[in-house]
Amino acid sequence: MGRGRARVRERSETLRHRLQRELESGPQTVRDLSVRVRIPEKEVISHLEHVQRSLRRSPQRLHVDPAECLQCGFRYQKRERLTSPSTCPRCRSQRIAPPLFRVEARSQREP
Ligand SMILES: [Zn+2]
Repeated sequence: MGRGRARVRERSETLRHRLQRELESGPQTVRDLSVRVRIPEKEVISHLEHVQRSLRRSPQRLHVDPAECLQCGFRYQKRERLTSPSTCPRCRSQRIAPPLFRVEARSQREP
């Protein structure tokens, strides 16, 4: 009883540590992370949300370089979601560079 659940939790904690290590090594897209850690992109996104939350009180943070339209240069600054938009709201292009994620030390200026 309960052992299966414990194993699942252990597995996702290990995955998050591996993801975090990848993110500390430099900027990565969701696809990069999915290939490196060998889990589907959907799972990467849910783990990223967890990493983002769990770093909130730590000296590190998850930095997101927003997605950018390769056609007109529009940047998705306000996009809180970690997923990539499929169409540019300004020029309707579908050539969108995906957001880049990395874990970095919080700068001194930030609260
Ligand atoms: Zn555009």
